Amino acid sequence: MHEHRQLFIDGQWRAPSGSGLAEVLDPATEQVIGRVPLGDERDVERAVQAARRAFGPWSRTPASVRAGYIRALAEQLEARAEGMAALITAELGMPVQWCRPVQVEGPIEGLRSYAELAALMDEVREVGNSLVVREAVGVCAFINPWNYPLHQLIGKLAPALAAGCTVVVKPSQETPLHAFLLAEMVQASGLPAGVFNLVSGPGARVGEALARHPEVDMVSFTGSTGAGVRVAQAAAPTVKRVCLELGGKSPFIIGADADLAAAVRHGVQDVMINSGQTCTALTRLLLPASRYAEALELAVAETEALRLGDPQDPASFLGPMCSAGQRRTVQDYIRLGQEEGARLLCGGAEPPAEFERGYYQRPTLFADVDNRMRIAQEEIFGPVLCLIPYRDEDQAVALANDSPFGLSSAVWTASRERSLALARRLRAGQCFLNGAAFNYRAPFGGYKQSGNGREWGEEGLHEFVETKAIQI
Ligand code: NAD
Repeated sequence: MHEHRQLFIDGQWRAPSGSGLAEVLDPATEQVIGRVPLGDERDVERAVQAARRAFGPWSRTPASVRAGYIRALAEQLEARAEGMAALITAELGMPVQWCRPVQVEGPIEGLRSYAELAALMDEVREVGNSLVVREAVGVCAFINPWNYPLHQLIGKLAPALAAGCTVVVKPSQETPLHAFLLAEMVQASGLPAGVFNLVSGPGARVGEALARHPEVDMVSFTGSTGAGVRVAQAAAPTVKRVCLELGGKSPFIIGADADLAAAVRHGVQDVMINSGQTCTALTRLLLPASRYAEALELAVAETEALRLGDPQDPASFLGPMCSAGQRRTVQDYIRLGQEEGARLLCGGAEPPAEFERGYYQRPTLFADVDNRMRIAQEEIFGPVLCLIPYRDEDQAVALANDSPFGLSSAVWTASRERSLALARRLRAGQCFLNGAAFNYRAPFGGYKQSGNGREWGEEGLHEFVETKAIQI
């Protein structure tokens, strides 16, 4: 049992002002595995004031020294990677075969990249009679989701520390335990008091209080588009910087000349990893009409080969959904898809019969999907893939871009030039060609209603930077 009765504020574990504890469930067993404080506005106030006091000295600390602290945190995470991965598997339900590489090794790489990029803070650009310098934006609030909890947290924390910002972190109610373990690592790495503060609690209370607070200079939010809009509204009166990383409904165009088996396998696995609870999931598979029937057969075979099971079992590809509520949402969308006239190829709304407990949901494929259907326009956030036929490349691009979102996209053709040309026509912040890998040194973020910021790489650092022109 992971029972936390204190919040991490000003370099110490302190009793919260808010009363009560929130329970954390293991979605595979439905058992309580942890409790964390329900913080409130007074906890936010103490954490923001601590971050404000720490900001001056921390932002004036040489970037090379801050880089040393980031490296120390990476070492802490590396030394306790197994424990961190096990904790995230327990609170999220992502199977062990994925959890360590995706949820922990990636963030370690991300931390190390910002230990290097911190040196950019020392660069001075001369423009005519001006020196242009970089400074930290100030006190930052991080509001995070549950689906890639540590990855999202490090994607904000590492560049913020590199830039010289201080932070208050609010993790999701579903998966807060990793953030308490990270706070222990922060303490062990010797980061000065007040640079990192942790306040758990409900979004509508702790999250909004952070977004509204006049002493918070920037709020970086990752989550649903609806909550992101509310955060931006709460932040507007104090004109703070708002960085939003929101939802997606990403398209994957497979060309008529593609290696169909390899491309379809990639498309199915990309959506089903983490049970479809991935903001960048390629949930609209755009297939050439000439090869549609063949692709459907391949997709069903790939889907049925994926093992749904206990996340502790190394053979499981998919585990349960993160929560009962998330599973209900997914079931409702599957029923909606059938009402809208899409053809269910496999899976379905009913939970799999073989599990007595746990929020399991079968991977589900829909064929004959019209891109205007709600199941093709709205983020389902579950293991549901829409297979949509197209006539020619122009129509494929039009369908791909016919979405309120623009987070990610993918293309698979036999020609690198054609894939590149298609990639340039897609209105999305990412495009993966022929199954290429995620890159922690490249910018990540959304177009349209998928967000307005960038994380990772140099652009991720710039989010936390103010530029000053000094005329000489
Ligand atoms: P969510 O919007 O329900 O919650 C995200 C966070 O916001 C939580 O910490 C929550 O407590 C808080 N929150 C909720 N209402 C709030 C309010 N009114 N004011 C302030 N804070 C509030 O999202 P979720 O269900 O945790 O995560 C899933 C969503 O996140 C999906 O839409 C997914 O696409 C998105 N996501 C986006 C990215 C990205 O980088 N673009 C990455 C991961 C997840």
